[in-house]
Amino acid sequence: DAALELVDVDGGYGETQVLDGCSLRLEDGEIVCLIGPNGAGKSTVLKTAFGMLDPWSGQVRYRGREIGGAAPEDVVRMGIGYVPQTENVFGSLTVEENLRMGGVARSGGLGEVMEGLYDRFEVLDEKRDAKARTLSGGQRQVLAFARALVMEPDVLLIDEPSAGLAPNTADEVFADVRAVNEMDTAILMVEQNARKGLSVSDRGYVLDQGTVRFADDAGALLDDD
Ligand code: ADP
Ligand code: ADP
Repeated sequence: DAALELVDVDGGYGETQVLDGCSLRLEDGEIVCLIGPNGAGKSTVLKTAFGMLDPWSGQVRYRGREIGGAAPEDVVRMGIGYVPQTENVFGSLTVEENLRMGGVARSGGLGEVMEGLYDRFEVLDEKRDAKARTLSGGQRQVLAFARALVMEPDVLLIDEPSAGLAPNTADEVFADVRAVNEMDTAILMVEQNARKGLSVSDRGYVLDQGTVRFADDAGALLDDD
């Protein structure tokens, strides 16, 4: 079974349909990039996979098991993490407190996993007691990313990791994305900059009007540019 699969999903917000027969798969070990025009439904795919939106029809499957309709707090416990777009960390809380928020659904202690994350993300280690609002945009994005890792997900959904970041900082965030993938986390990522997103991914899906238009190896999609 795929790590994560959407099968012929229709969905959206209230009466507004966004996803229209959307089907895609994420296999273990992969980084898969969702690209496509603004408003294509890329973020909506992630929100539907994370249980923030219930599919109207079709299926969301995690390791073969139907999870469409499960709430985010249940989805998180199953092993799926979500990194929303920037500015989703709590500015008035410290780095340490933000990380602890990421682990509220964990049974047992946080100490070991937090120390592992501080080892991996030195910038956070140096800023443990700093209020998140004092961090740079790139540092806040790393914090949002690390916060999703406190639950040790084996599938991670990431919404535009480079949004609002300078190119150098974005490259550092993408390097973190790859490092996390190499530790056996399958990643489904939305990226506005198609070239950049595909260059760190194994495969890509081109979404338009809530439907997958093309799917191919990242290299093949890049050659078509
Ligand atoms: P993308 O990530 O590809 O830019 P989105 O998934 O964010 O696209 O949005 C797809 C469509 O859904 C857009 O037309 C957007 O305006 C609409 N949309 C997003 N969020 C909401 C919402 N909360 N309520 C109603 N429509 C929404
Ligand atoms: P996000 O990626 O979190 O959806 P957006 O900038 O697209 O961020 O939207 C900001 C807020 O406005 C979100 O809470 C979203 O639910 C809402 N929203 C976005 N598009 C629409 C829309 N077309 N109609 C109603 N609400 C929307």
